[in-house]
Amino acid sequence: MLASQPLSASAQDQSLSIHSSATPQEVLQSVFGYPDFRGRQREVIDTLVAGGDAVVLFPTGAGKSLCFQIPALCRAGIGIVISPLIALMKDQVGALEGAGVAAAALNSSLSPEEQDAVRERARSGQLKLLYVTPERLATESFRRFLDTLEIALFAIDEAHCVSQWGHDFRPEYLSLTTLGARYPGVPRVALTATADPHTREDIIARLGLQGAEVFSTSFDRPNIRYEIAERTNQRQQLLDFLSRHKDESGIVYCLSRAKVEDIAEWLGTKGIRALPYHAGLPADVRAANQDAFHLEEGLCLVATVAFGMGIDKPDVRFVAHLDLPSSVEAYYQETGRAGRDGAPSEAFMAYGMADVVQRRRMIAEGDAPDEIKRAENAKLNALLGICETAGCRRQALLAHFGETYPKPCGNCDTCLSPVETWDGLQAAQKFLSAVYRTGQRFGSGHIIDVLVGKESDKVTRFGHDKLSVYGIGQDTSAKSWQSVARQLVAGGFLDVDHANFGALTLTEEARPVLRGEREVLLRKDRGAASLKKTRGARSASLADELESDDRLLFERLRRLRTQIARDSEVPPYVVFPDATLAGIAKARPTNEDTLLGVSGVGQSKLEKYGRAFMELVEAFEAGV
Ligand code: ADP
Ligand code: ZN
Repeated sequence: MLASQPLSASAQDQSLSIHSSATPQEVLQSVFGYPDFRGRQREVIDTLVAGGDAVVLFPTGAGKSLCFQIPALCRAGIGIVISPLIALMKDQVGALEGAGVAAAALNSSLSPEEQDAVRERARSGQLKLLYVTPERLATESFRRFLDTLEIALFAIDEAHCVSQWGHDFRPEYLSLTTLGARYPGVPRVALTATADPHTREDIIARLGLQGAEVFSTSFDRPNIRYEIAERTNQRQQLLDFLSRHKDESGIVYCLSRAKVEDIAEWLGTKGIRALPYHAGLPADVRAANQDAFHLEEGLCLVATVAFGMGIDKPDVRFVAHLDLPSSVEAYYQETGRAGRDGAPSEAFMAYGMADVVQRRRMIAEGDAPDEIKRAENAKLNALLGICETAGCRRQALLAHFGETYPKPCGNCDTCLSPVETWDGLQAAQKFLSAVYRTGQRFGSGHIIDVLVGKESDKVTRFGHDKLSVYGIGQDTSAKSWQSVARQLVAGGFLDVDHANFGALTLTEEARPVLRGEREVLLRKDRGAASLKKTRGARSASLADELESDDRLLFERLRRLRTQIARDSEVPPYVVFPDATLAGIAKARPTNEDTLLGVSGVGQSKLEKYGRAFMELVEAFEAGV
């Protein structure tokens, strides 16, 4: 929808005025409205402008797009961008057009006439960036068309799709291996947010980029606040979490389609605009809900993981998981959809023992070979370790990806509200003994009944009230025992036997504990954590960072943006991202120079929206 929108005459004229003599810094400022490059953007851009190849390994939200968009604008000719999904292309083309850059996508969603028009614009030198799918690039007819163009560079986005190691393998990406030979001298850049070293090596080998410079940065996402909580009352927990994100957009992930529909409907009854998304919905409903998520503000999308790749929306303010994801990688990827624009964002997960049992069963019942199942179980264990850590979540997450984060981050639940630990050896021994004495055939619920001395039917039926372990855990609440159970599973002392309805069994690791030969340090459950705001900590939302008066203006600026976005049928973030609105609220610009000084305001947007926003600022200052 965005891609097929014809450019206005003025936008085309203006984009033609970007000529190849502009420096990267000038383009950054005048077109994108940003004062400074981020991280290693500048180095990548310089390499490409000088005609070299590059491999870019930055996390989501680091700003990979500018790494090829700016060189394409600075070099003579057209930049060809290979992108795996039409939705991704639409978003990028929409954002570029918003900034006044002549860009288009060539894909199957266009009619033959529209495709001809795009080719004509490319041929006549009017286009600076052209997005295509790998399938199209593989065709000889398209390559012959490319032969007629002057090409500034090739950018291979989502480059991990070329690797069979990754989960998004796309066979068509393999046709990109011949690009280097067919177009010698044209710089190529491969970009991905994949942290996995296997996949990284594969990308370089398959795309023939051995000679390319490799640029990588930390995979930390500093603007995302992580919180993982024990599931007590998930609906209430979700409501509490969402109350911190009024009028903001985000994703709520659930494991099953039924739960997706249930939660979406229930949120509606609570006055929260929520739409469902899962693979079982009719295609038109799915498309409509995805579009709404892009175009509207303050929308909560409740989804299964079917809603994932192709979500390029930069202002997703929160991601909530109501079920345990499948692995740390999945968790990091899913939470990583929050805060691409760099503004404060939150990731929340509620989980409990039932999730572990369920995940184990899903793995067991899948049809993967045994060694894959073992690997999946190990991945799940790694995630449990992060869920049950008493240390900083970010440190644990990054350590999983082989990165060392120097000190506790100050922006996760365990940093903001430190967890106390206690000597859990005796408790662990009691629990493990109860598992052993009851024959390693029961789930945590029954074990806890035995420990606290409950006279349940099951307890009496199996004669467990006669056991020496019956009632030895009365000094501790059932809720705390649940926490002990989870930590013993996460610590590898207990296994969950999926073939046996989630029965807990002892592992080798349990032996030294039972013999008292090792320490067991457990975290104290703190129930619903109240995240204290410590001094110097990052705030959880942009609005929190503003003084109360600026915040009022920020809200009005958002309303104006919604209006403009609706009128011009673009997503709100294409008008201005949240961070830019916050910048306007603080700087209160009433002339063009001051407005241009706000990060995110470029020449084209100044012309399109400057007046409206300055008028609002003036009215606000005048107390209107
Ligand atoms: P990635 O592809 O790495 O996930 P994007 O290219 O989508 O990230 O960029 C994420 C956001 O950061 C976008 O909104 C983009 O406009 C913004 N951005 C990129 N570079 C800069 C910069 N130098 N200064 C400010 N914002 C930037
Ligand atoms: Zn932390």
